[in-house]
Amino acid sequence: MNYQRHSGDPGFSGRAEVAVVEEKPNGAVAPWARVLLVEDEADIRELIRYSLAQAGLEVEEASDGAEALDKLRAFVPDLIVLDLMLPGMPGLEVCRRLRSRADTARLPIMVVSAKSSPSEKALGLAMGADDYVSKPFSPRDLLMRAIALLPQR
Ligand code: CA
Repeated sequence: MNYQRHSGDPGFSGRAEVAVVEEKPNGAVAPWARVLLVEDEADIRELIRYSLAQAGLEVEEASDGAEALDKLRAFVPDLIVLDLMLPGMPGLEVCRRLRSRADTARLPIMVVSAKSSPSEKALGLAMGADDYVSKPFSPRDLLMRAIALLPQR
């Protein structure tokens, strides 16, 4: 079998992907939803914010757990993206507190962390996280997994 791919092939993915993106107004790929993003590292926070916002999600940012819990008094998100290694209150404690509060008990939580050993992952899921993304991550992968956690409308 000597099959060579070229741009005229129906199986060539480059053109097809461009076409799909162009058909989406404003580049939106996510249903409208609000996300609370908790991450202390500004460049990683910006990377995640940009990926989510470009897909049409409204993103509120917090740089630590205390700020996140404070913002939740006025802001009701559809998803929380939560870093585990935060200054002050650890991400797992934020996770535990969210699960113990009636208004956030069922809120989808995506943990994002460089702590990716099996025990850390298991602990994160045991604390009530719905998904666990290891750093470094692909922004596209993180976006798709975030969309999967959003409530069906
Ligand atoms: Ca961190």
